[in-house]
Amino acid sequence: MAVSLDTIISLCKRRGFIFQSSEIYGGMAACYDYGPLGVELKRNVRDAWWRAMVQERGDIEGLECSILMHPDVWRASGHVENFTDPLVDCKSCRARFRADHVEGYEAVYTVTARTDGGATERFEVTLGPQIPTKVIRPGYRHNGAVLEEIAEIKFKGSPRTCPTCGNRELTEPRLFNLLFRTHVGPIEDAASTVFMRPETAQGMFVNFENVRGSMRRKLPFGIAQIGRSFRNEITTKAFVFRTLEFEQMEMEFFCKPGTDEEWYRHWVNERFNWYLRYGIRRENLRLRQHDADELAHYSRMCHDIEYNFPMGWGELEGVAHRGDYDLTAHMKQSGKNLKFFDEETKEAITPYVIEPAAGVDRTALTFMIDAYHEEEVRGEKRVVLRLHPAMAPLKVAVLPLLKKRGEIVEKCQALTAALKQRWRAVYDDTAAIGKLYRRQDEVGTPFCVTIDVESLDDGKATVRDRDTMEQDRIELGRIEDYLAERLVLNPPKVAEPALG
Ligand code: ATP
Repeated sequence: MAVSLDTIISLCKRRGFIFQSSEIYGGMAACYDYGPLGVELKRNVRDAWWRAMVQERGDIEGLECSILMHPDVWRASGHVENFTDPLVDCKSCRARFRADHVEGYEAVYTVTARTDGGATERFEVTLGPQIPTKVIRPGYRHNGAVLEEIAEIKFKGSPRTCPTCGNRELTEPRLFNLLFRTHVGPIEDAASTVFMRPETAQGMFVNFENVRGSMRRKLPFGIAQIGRSFRNEITTKAFVFRTLEFEQMEMEFFCKPGTDEEWYRHWVNERFNWYLRYGIRRENLRLRQHDADELAHYSRMCHDIEYNFPMGWGELEGVAHRGDYDLTAHMKQSGKNLKFFDEETKEAITPYVIEPAAGVDRTALTFMIDAYHEEEVRGEKRVVLRLHPAMAPLKVAVLPLLKKRGEIVEKCQALTAALKQRWRAVYDDTAAIGKLYRRQDEVGTPFCVTIDVESLDDGKATVRDRDTMEQDRIELGRIEDYLAERLVLNPPKVAEPALG
């Protein structure tokens, strides 16, 4: 049985993974705080990504950019003008949401476009569930003409029903820019306006020459970054799937035109397999190729890696072929040369870029959903997160069978101290053993070690496996080695040809 999002939300709060932001003040919508176990899970996601993208390879460099960047970065990238979603209001209940999230959504966009001959044309495009609205932006091509402006948007057919109150009093959609703005300095005017970055990718483009030059790189090579991004998203009801601020893990891979399609296939496969490597179930993952008319304005090809979320299939990560769009746009805006000079052919090349872009929060949520299991054990419900050990927030819990016996507690604490040198290990004596096991199962701790009265005689402890619930008696001195053999934190790569 598939788990509901509400079950995951409740587990997250109860067990210290994720809390609503500013809860004591009534909460801040679409913002979340990560608790003690959520912090560990997120660190594990970032570490596993960095290991696969940077540490295990020789062709990718890391980068960490500031969140506030020169406003021209966002003019060049097209975000100031085009980073929009269609917004509707319900006149009855005043709810506000994304038009393309209304049931049965279809809208007619009337747009102006310029033909190759320079003439201006007006035409209509009908958008529905198949073609997301974000593709209808300046630069969009339709029958050989390039879109210039969106003149009007109207719902197609009869008025749509408000998803919140059920009334049929929705306004027509209007475009809304997702960039968060703030000001530098004491005067809040247009000249001091800056934007909170909506993606980390532009940091890699504007630092292309800095990284290439300082690290003496030749094509192909990539630049990877993990960091916070901000989007003033309209619809925000899917827990950490869509939030106002979130963390992205993005990598821009710069290569020579002509080698791009091969690299594109490489990256779609690498990224798909990364999820399998860390235990996501194959049947819950799929690849979805964007149709030509669905591609974002900068993108030549795009595959989404999708996951079967409780709310339906949704994007987990996008792998996009961005062509030379971004570097060309930044050369134009900044007047700086960002071409790569090929010493062999004596040619100046504008590299093509392949971009795998994932979200830390969405990935962490996916690991939790995929790992969630409920089963019946001796007539009682057992909830267990079968997280891959690399993702598990805690690797081992040490539990005393009798907390009144000082020698048992002492041995437990000594063992915990030793294990802590290597892993995230905890000591817990706040309940009876059955309850302590259940608590660790529910947060996905792969192993529990229990020290009992017998341990004082035979020098052994019971090691319990989270998944099988099997128990082994192991000498205290051998426990570390025993766990090390079983806690595979760096699993071997998977090589499934997801994209041929
Ligand atoms: P969506 O179509 O879901 O809005 P997108 O295509 O705009 O996403 P990208 O710009 O490709 O997303 O961003 C890359 C990744 O960043 C996404 O796959 C997702 O994991 C994450 N991401 C994007 N927006 C959000 C958000 N508002 N909240 C949480 N994660 C996000």
